[in-house]
Amino acid sequence: MAKKKFKSESKRLLDLMINSIYTHKEIFLRELISNANDAIDKLYYLSLKDENITFNRDNFYIRLTPDKEARTLTITDTGIGMSREELEDNLGTIAKSGSFAFKKENDMEQDVDIIGQFGVGFYSAFMVADCVTVKSKAYGSEEAYVWTSKGADGYEIDTCDKAETGTEIILYLKADTEDEHYSEFLETYRLSELVKKYSDYIKYPIKMLTEKSRPKEGTAEEGKTPEYETYYEDETLNSMIPIWRKNKNELKQEDYDQFYQDKFHDFEKPLKTIHTSADGAVSYTALLFLPARAPYDYYTKEFQRGLQLYSNGVLIMDKCADLLPDYFGFVKGLVDSADLSLNISREMLQHDRQLKTIAAHIKKKIKNELLNMLNNDRANYEKLYESFGRPLKFGVYDNFGMEKDFLKDLILFYSSSEKKLVSLDEYAKRMKEEQKYIYYACGEDTAKIDKLPQTELVKEKGYEILYLTEDVDEFVIKILGSYEEKEFKSVSASDLGLKSEEEAKAEKETKEENKDLFDFMKEALGDKVKEVKASTRLKSHPVCISSVGEVSLEMEKVLNAMPNNQKIHADRALEINISHPVFETIKTLYQTDKEKLKKYTGVLYDSALLIEGLPIEDPVAFSNHVCDLI
Ligand code: ADP
Repeated sequence: MAKKKFKSESKRLLDLMINSIYTHKEIFLRELISNANDAIDKLYYLSLKDENITFNRDNFYIRLTPDKEARTLTITDTGIGMSREELEDNLGTIAKSGSFAFKKENDMEQDVDIIGQFGVGFYSAFMVADCVTVKSKAYGSEEAYVWTSKGADGYEIDTCDKAETGTEIILYLKADTEDEHYSEFLETYRLSELVKKYSDYIKYPIKMLTEKSRPKEGTAEEGKTPEYETYYEDETLNSMIPIWRKNKNELKQEDYDQFYQDKFHDFEKPLKTIHTSADGAVSYTALLFLPARAPYDYYTKEFQRGLQLYSNGVLIMDKCADLLPDYFGFVKGLVDSADLSLNISREMLQHDRQLKTIAAHIKKKIKNELLNMLNNDRANYEKLYESFGRPLKFGVYDNFGMEKDFLKDLILFYSSSEKKLVSLDEYAKRMKEEQKYIYYACGEDTAKIDKLPQTELVKEKGYEILYLTEDVDEFVIKILGSYEEKEFKSVSASDLGLKSEEEAKAEKETKEENKDLFDFMKEALGDKVKEVKASTRLKSHPVCISSVGEVSLEMEKVLNAMPNNQKIHADRALEINISHPVFETIKTLYQTDKEKLKKYTGVLYDSALLIEGLPIEDPVAFSNHVCDLI
């Protein structure tokens, strides 16, 4: 039989993994046991749909067989098995292409556990074995096949004899070295310890013939020194109780962390664990985790949200999307309910009343936990928000704001006065008595926004401003409209609501006084602006641009950056600071040199655009004008 080569990327990954990635070699056992568990699950699924298969629990188990003489450890399962093609497909390629690139790109630490993450679990066997043999007989097949590999060079497949359906993996353990003592994986006490540590909740029995000792019959009588004999007994090493069905008091956070990291392939501990049960109209247990970081594919189309769904401890669906709204799609975990029927199909699930009730509970539960974190564990909430604030904001905006009231208290924005992220509730509580609006300003980053001339007067009034830096932010604000009856107001809006009656009167007078001048300037700018006017918001800057009407300047930027470029244009006003020396010059020019005033107006307009981060139409003309003036 010719030796087949692993795909080249697989080979590199395999080398990398065997030699460096993972320092705890013992996890190979966990990986192989999980695979065996999945294989039995698959057969179990089949039995749900096929009346011809009877699933007798006693026939399903995983067995560990260490053989000290042969220096082998065999892991046997009575699961679904693999056909020749499956052996080739499943064990011949490591992971899908993205994984290796991902590790390189992200420059992950040396001992990060990427094994489980990328479905290269099986290959962890090569961390402890220099030769691996997989004998497998697929369910419903007469033939069995044996796959053999000595690591990175490739593998061979041949036919073999195997009576029972299922898979048998034989690891030929590496020779011990000074640093690594592979023989430990032949010791029954060590294997049993590892099963307890990593695979206790596996729901099929993990059996092992264990060496025991007992006093020889007749030798334990009084007055005699008992003689001992060794005997072997089949022992079940795991408790088989899934962690979520255990009593909360019996569990430590480490147990949850271990379970989470193992099951959901995360190399970080969860930020928060939610273990909750309900009894009532529907009864269920949910074990939910809030991850510390977004998985690498979170923002791609490949990402599938959803919770695992169990019926009485038996997995019936791996990613049940109906249990989580999109905006909580980052939550990992599972739901177990005895009220769900086992052989329910995906289509039926969508209409299942029980499931809907559970989903509604879970949604509320997650929100409450998030609020709780926001108020009592701020640092962690901010960490979470950094990764998942975006989906929460999209949640506010989605479906015409259907969920905006539910989500609004979870949203944070950077605050001008607090210099950190704040919630709308915190803002509202700090508002000054006479303050009419919740102010916000948009821009690329908080440092740039902080320098915007438009923010000056609002700040001077002592009002807090929310800095919006993400494209979705202003849409969120627009769809919310108000918070606790206080409207949102952009610092670029034409009326900021800051004026007292006197100020408004004074403004009107200046406007009238300078009407001709402003009209002239508007004329000089043509269609570029709706109006030129005296500003009531500027303090030290000579000019700024504000938007007139619904579309703001930031929205213009966002909308025009979208693929179906609609060429949206926000109506603008050029505002002049009449307390600035520039204004005196303008006034004089209006009397003495109208041509020069035209140029000045252009330059002022362009510089206002630049401050706003908007492109200027003709940079060359702008530069020429500036040079002329100099
Ligand atoms: P993962 O389990 O993450 O998909 P693995 O490399 O561990 O990745 O396994 C690859 C595939 O090989 C599995 O998805 C499964 O289809 C198959 N496989 C592995 N072990 C077994 C087994 N004991 N019985 C049946 N199929 C198996």
